[in-house]
Amino acid sequence: MGLRDFDTLQTKHFDIVVVGGGIYGATMAWEAASRGLSVALFEKQDFGHATSANSLKMIHGGIRYLQQLDLKRLRESVRERRTLLRIAPHLVTPIQCLFPTQNTLTENRVTVEAAFQLYNCLSWDRNQEIDPGRHIPCAGTMNRKKVREMIPALEKLHCSGAGYWYDAQAHNTERLILSFVCSARSEGASTFNYAPVKTLLKKDAKVKGVVVCDGLSNKSYEIQTDSVIDCTGPWSKWHSEINDKIAKPVFAKAVNLVVKKSFFPCAVALKTRHKSENASSSRQLFIAPWKNQSLIGTWYFPPEDSAEHVSSTERELDECLQQANSLLPGMKIDRGDITAVHAGLLPAEAENHTAEPRLKNKAHIVDASKQSGPQGLFLVQGIKFTTARAVAESTIDLVCHRQGKRVKKSETDSRPLYGGKLGQVAPYYQSKKKYYSDRLEVKKITHLIDNYGTNIDVIMAYIEQDASLGQWVPGTTEVLIAELVFVLEHEMLVTLSDLLFRRIDLGAFAMPNQKTIAFCADFLGKRLHWDEDKQLENINTLIASYPPLHQSSH
Ligand SMILES: Cc1cc2nc3c(=O)[nH]c(=O)nc-3n(C[C@H](O)[C@H](O)[C@H](O)COP(=O)(O)OP(=O)(O)OC[C@H]3O[C@@H](n4cnc5c(N)ncnc54)[C@H](O)[C@@H]3O)c2cc1C
Repeated sequence: MGLRDFDTLQTKHFDIVVVGGGIYGATMAWEAASRGLSVALFEKQDFGHATSANSLKMIHGGIRYLQQLDLKRLRESVRERRTLLRIAPHLVTPIQCLFPTQNTLTENRVTVEAAFQLYNCLSWDRNQEIDPGRHIPCAGTMNRKKVREMIPALEKLHCSGAGYWYDAQAHNTERLILSFVCSARSEGASTFNYAPVKTLLKKDAKVKGVVVCDGLSNKSYEIQTDSVIDCTGPWSKWHSEINDKIAKPVFAKAVNLVVKKSFFPCAVALKTRHKSENASSSRQLFIAPWKNQSLIGTWYFPPEDSAEHVSSTERELDECLQQANSLLPGMKIDRGDITAVHAGLLPAEAENHTAEPRLKNKAHIVDASKQSGPQGLFLVQGIKFTTARAVAESTIDLVCHRQGKRVKKSETDSRPLYGGKLGQVAPYYQSKKKYYSDRLEVKKITHLIDNYGTNIDVIMAYIEQDASLGQWVPGTTEVLIAELVFVLEHEMLVTLSDLLFRRIDLGAFAMPNQKTIAFCADFLGKRLHWDEDKQLENINTLIASYPPLHQSSH
């Protein structure tokens, strides 16, 4: 079957159709395919373009749940952090996190030390079957002198010391999502971007299929299945299918700033000193280093009326800046420092437009047939990027149980993803550097493994055939021309924005410079047979996705 062969798709019957290609849909497709089920995944735009593109990139180990003594969530987070470090060791790495302690009842060093020792015990298996190069060290505390040596700027807070722990960071969440999709595909799943699902087909209160539109040809197709899993987040159309007693889901707008300054060598959690208009107390924010820049967040605001275009308002942006600048005396971030604003909708507790929205604390998997809806429809609302795989495992268990299907046990917590079978991480990097060093600089080899894992070998094969592909894309020192060839041939790329935002990670910080955009547009145009108008349309769409405020000056 060709890459976008909808005609053949129509002749098949799928065990499961997954709607929505964010992290929840991507993990769902991989979970189903890896357990031997036939599955089709449809995403209305590009994989990972929506809420999942906005993550703070933290893979949480659940230390925060200690405060609420929510041990179930803590353990789930420990397991899922471990899973991601195991299955995608090139994309997920440990990161040190720290917060200043004070001489108060709950935040003094003794209390924090006791709590962190408890966390160390509760996460006893956090490094099970993880490569030593990706181990999560113990949490603990440090004295004031050590804090001063490590981060002199924190001295201004007159803290008594700091508590530190380790989480993980997914430095390229877009490629992580794509790795789940490509893994599902390599296991036989049919995965389509630019394919919105329009309608659910039902007969006698049972799901019979979906109508999907090929967004490139505008033709519609009927796809047969007995089970549809809706992973469309705030865009779910099918809540109306279920009993009124289930309230219409409510969402909060979550916002992060990407700032072109690098503040600290590790992630630091700080409290704001100004209360926000819609928050009842000071707020804790994270400043996490990310590719020589900083990610700051997360703020929560009531959402706009439409989920179609989620963005932050000028007022919200002012509030974010004011609060970010109140984190530390001397912190000076102005609008010119912001290179991107991430905003997405997350499930919240109850509609309340005056108070700060409170996020739901666990993912929801709803079997519509249990709420007077059609048999075979399942609705999934996720909360955290971190725990998407675990939710996928539970959902597929439930669907198989309802279908009366016996399938093999889940193995997605240990099976390496597409590009993730590095074996031992440090020796892998060393051996590839040694092997390819006569053809490519070490910096470029490291970059390729960091982003493509074992697919470095496929990319190097292009460079071996044509050495010019080993050069940087004009205008950057971050992406090789060979990467463009690789993603175009293997990763379901349709538009220039797909390339720059979600395949080669060049557009996520700020708008690439004109030279780079022109080169990439020309490169894609030639291979995808775009005429001049189509090429221009792609460039204009890319540029329009950067609000004027955030356009880079180069
Ligand atoms: C600012 C911010 C920071 C965050 N930080 C973190 C963090 O550090 N760590 C963490 O663990 N989590 C974090 N999260 C939470 C995490 O990002 C979300 O829980 C997760 O991305 C939700 O994924 P999803 O797949 O449910 O939604 P989405 O990514 O929105 O996917 C839904 C998809 O469905 C598609 N779709 C809609 N309708 C249709 C249709 N009819 N047919 C086909 N496709 C359709 C959409 O195009 C979309 O791609 C953060 C979230 C935000 C907003």
